[in-house]
Amino acid sequence: MNDPGTNPAPARAHEDPADPADPADASTPGPRPAGAAPEAAPVRDAATPADLAGIAELLGRVPRGVLGVAHRCSCGRPEVVETAPRLPDGTPFPTTYYLVDPFAAGAISTLEASGLMREMNERLAADPDLAAAHAAAHEDYLRRRAALGDADVPEIAGVSAGGMPTRVKCLHALAGHALAAGPGVNPFGDETLQRLRELGGWPATCPHAALPEHPRPAPATGAGPATEPAPGPGPA
Ligand SMILES: [Zn+2]
Repeated sequence: MNDPGTNPAPARAHEDPADPADPADASTPGPRPAGAAPEAAPVRDAATPADLAGIAELLGRVPRGVLGVAHRCSCGRPEVVETAPRLPDGTPFPTTYYLVDPFAAGAISTLEASGLMREMNERLAADPDLAAAHAAAHEDYLRRRAALGDADVPEIAGVSAGGMPTRVKCLHALAGHALAAGPGVNPFGDETLQRLRELGGWPATCPHAALPEHPRPAPATGAGPATEPAPGPGPA
């Protein structure tokens, strides 16, 4: 079956399992200067149609298998989505916490291009405590995915993301986990976020303020006029 509706993504986090070589994507946008805003905490929200539309607007495609939003920008835009262990087309998907925001992905790609992962791997090899924390993050990742129901996805049993448990291979995946789980769970994800905060862009500031549309999660009762279904008898 063809897949005619898929547009190429202008920028995406490179933890997609179809892209295991994870080359740095030079086309990813960097963080934009924007108004400072308090960082948002992890969430576990349903993804609304506005969320999915906002993701597609920035990512260039509708993400597949989204179970919910695991972290939002301070402006409300989804940054990390919780993804089903098996996508609707049957593909096993190990990157449960998928970073969908191209500004965030671009900021992390810049760090990766600086050679940070090589340094992290050197520290991982030299520091048993850090290695234990990285391995524990792997176990946390698998526990969270198991809670979503992955018993019927044996293809990714024991496989987490980002190089865990013994390597650092993708800071997008590690930061996605750190954003979803909160601080203190994924040490290299936390470090990635902290280094970016010190640079002053995302995630210390919202990169979306300059976008023409800046959707926020709509409250359930916020519908305007003319959006309610017309009451009346249905078809017989
Ligand atoms: Zn934002």
